[in-house]
Amino acid sequence: MKILIVNAGSSSLKYQLIDMDDESTLAKGLVERIGIAGSRLEQKAKGEKYEISQPLKDHVEACKLMLSALTDKEHGVVSSMDEIGAVGHRVLHGGMKFTKSVIIDENVIEAIKENIPLGPLHNPANLMGIRACQEVMPNTPMVAVFDTAFHQTMPPKAFLYGLPMDYFNRLKVRRYGFHGTSHRYVSARTAEFLGKKPEELRLITCHLGNGSSICAVYHGHCVDTSMGITPLEGVIMGTRSGAMDPAVVQFVCDNDHISADEMLEICNKKSGLLGISGVSSDMRDVMKAADEGNERAKIAVDMLVYGVKKYIGAYAAAMGGVDAIVFTAGIGENNAQLREMIMDGMDFLGCRVDPEKNAVRGEERIISTDDSTVKILVIPTNEEIAIARDTLALVTGK
Ligand code: ADP
Repeated sequence: MKILIVNAGSSSLKYQLIDMDDESTLAKGLVERIGIAGSRLEQKAKGEKYEISQPLKDHVEACKLMLSALTDKEHGVVSSMDEIGAVGHRVLHGGMKFTKSVIIDENVIEAIKENIPLGPLHNPANLMGIRACQEVMPNTPMVAVFDTAFHQTMPPKAFLYGLPMDYFNRLKVRRYGFHGTSHRYVSARTAEFLGKKPEELRLITCHLGNGSSICAVYHGHCVDTSMGITPLEGVIMGTRSGAMDPAVVQFVCDNDHISADEMLEICNKKSGLLGISGVSSDMRDVMKAADEGNERAKIAVDMLVYGVKKYIGAYAAAMGGVDAIVFTAGIGENNAQLREMIMDGMDFLGCRVDPEKNAVRGEERIISTDDSTVKILVIPTNEEIAIARDTLALVTGK
């Protein structure tokens, strides 16, 4: 079966068509600037790039364009949309309702809507993507895969904030965690790679990309994670501040006469690596500047390294030890120097990186020395495959 994976943003739609016979990617594309001037589609398939620029007023038009690119006689990969057996949608916030992926029906759509206050930027966009696909592919089954679902196994001591209980009971204020599909995929793949059962392992998975999160996976289940009610909590990220004393918000708002919304925008979009370094949100640029002697860039790198170290220490303590630490996503998969910096001085935990094995990019590998009692690994994430597998399993009932 061929499965289409859709990740809809407010003005963009990323997609990938996967042939589940061999899990190969047939086409990968991005429709951007939906509803604004300069709308365009870019698709990579059959080793070539295909671009179309045309006005797109909404997600329905974007979906139609995606289908026409996929079925294009010259550049497409399927002869008709009937060849697409199912669609898997990435949905940011499943709240407490969704502990796993589900077939989309009207009840699911209602529940995603109910979670809009928790994911005000993403859930409405994800819904637009679902609605648009349903309109142009009315007979194709669709599945929702939630970024939060994997973390629903956290116990209350890990997911509650120390606020009056009323805020949890009434408003569902709690830690949800994100990148769940990635942590789930990477932790399962790590067990497979090590030839172990998930229930034999205590893992710490470090998803370090534009957004970064760390997850403690005990015997196959998430017991803690660094992101919170929104993806803002945890370590510093490309443009996000990571965790800080919430009183900072009021302090800055009062001082600079800005609203809480404006301050949150600063915390989400202008902080983190970008805000500290003043150079870029892209780790490659920040590390280059740090190498060239830029002090602020050096501090930004150090802050990320230090933040990840602290989570590793905390989660090892929380799980009564750790069997393997796993690096994934853009930074985690590709940057040997950063991995080495994070693991430096962790001998006390039984962690030793082998510099030669660590010289790897985007490839599954154990990077610890043979005498390291904790295995350290690079496992490239593949959220699309995880979404496609869930979708296939749900639509075929297997
Ligand atoms: P997203 O969270 O958007 O999916 P990715 O997982 O693709 O992001 O990660 C993007 C980040 O990975 C960027 O900060 C980029 O600089 C970083 N990155 C990619 N390759 C490298 C590299 N070789 N060294 C350091 N950082 C890298």
